Amino acid sequence: MSVDETTCSKTNRIPAAKRTPSPAFLILAFVIILPSCHPGFNPNHPGAGVSIELARYRQSDLRNLQYDLSFEVPEKLSEPVKGFLSLRFMRNRLSDPLVLDFREDSSRILSVRLNGKSARFAFRDEHLIIFPGNFSASANRLDVEFFAGDLSLNRNDDYLYTLLVPDRARTVFPCIDQPGLKAVFRLKLSIPSQWKAVANSPLASQDTLHTGRTVLLFQETPPLPVYLFAFAAGRFDTISFHGAKHPIVLYHRENDAQKVRNNAPEIFRLADSSLHFMEQYTGIAYPFPKYDLVVIPSFQYGGMEHPGCIFLNAGRIFLPENPSPDDLLARAGLIAHETAHIWFGDYVTMPWFDEVWMKEVFAGFMADKITGQLFPQVDFRLRFLLSHYPPSYDIDRTPGTNPVMQKL
Ligand SMILES: [Zn+2]
Repeated sequence: MSVDETTCSKTNRIPAAKRTPSPAFLILAFVIILPSCHPGFNPNHPGAGVSIELARYRQSDLRNLQYDLSFEVPEKLSEPVKGFLSLRFMRNRLSDPLVLDFREDSSRILSVRLNGKSARFAFRDEHLIIFPGNFSASANRLDVEFFAGDLSLNRNDDYLYTLLVPDRARTVFPCIDQPGLKAVFRLKLSIPSQWKAVANSPLASQDTLHTGRTVLLFQETPPLPVYLFAFAAGRFDTISFHGAKHPIVLYHRENDAQKVRNNAPEIFRLADSSLHFMEQYTGIAYPFPKYDLVVIPSFQYGGMEHPGCIFLNAGRIFLPENPSPDDLLARAGLIAHETAHIWFGDYVTMPWFDEVWMKEVFAGFMADKITGQLFPQVDFRLRFLLSHYPPSYDIDRTPGTNPVMQKL
């Protein structure tokens, strides 16, 4: 590791021989300096976390982001997950440092190479800072070998899954962790041979090795915000549904086969109907190459709208015998909500976290519409009124009321 305190102003420092510059030189210097500096932000000291200043700085700097990510998942929980990142990108600020986010210990970074050469870098304030000197005006490739952080890998003895929302991708691998900079992802997983894996895209290839390992390559994703990049791997069972338009594979770990048989047809009906409704309502065909459901025990939320592999909480999806009408409606609402997010949040994504509310209210609104159509015996207009209006009025008349959009 080498620390090189290069800053915007130092990079463009006027040489000693020119200490009394002419007006023409000053104008020229201003024109040269202007594109490489970003007022109020110093990429050498980005501070902890991802600030709006850092996000804006990178938004104006980077384009054509492509992640090739590889993870070696060991069988033993006690061993770390080894990762390899190849980040391809183009940038405007060739003389400025590049700031990646990695909220982990610096010892987890094993090697860093830029465009085929060992890179000068520092690890500071939860960031991997790559110093200038070898950036290209055309394509760049940054290779980072690392041990993945465990915080958002949700590792168990025989399965794991990512949950990177809203800004936790940086707890797993070095990345540009802001929703406005979408990227394409290509994922390679090495897992124990008894395991299965599912990710945002369909499988491109699968090799079972003599070493008891299976290597899976997934197809390149459409552009995604990094918080929607996802995979799950482990001992999962699968059930397939061949709908008229969208095949669906359901991954689960439920041991009660009768429970699965009782619930699966309704789960598929809800998912298929939600997809059909959203396509009809928006006039936009399902915008991702596949749609799978991954049912996870004790999942942190009701669900998470990863394109291609929606994660769902097992307790909300596999209902016991004779479920209550409220449980049935809640399950329908959950699947409809996550499916609506494919259009509101996944396909169209907010540039920054202060607009998360927009995707949530659209997904909730569409879920009510979808569920109303699926359960015609229920008066959904009355239900909508009773479930949304009183809580809104209750808050609106208290000092706790606040603007929907707030500065973050
Ligand atoms: Zn939501």
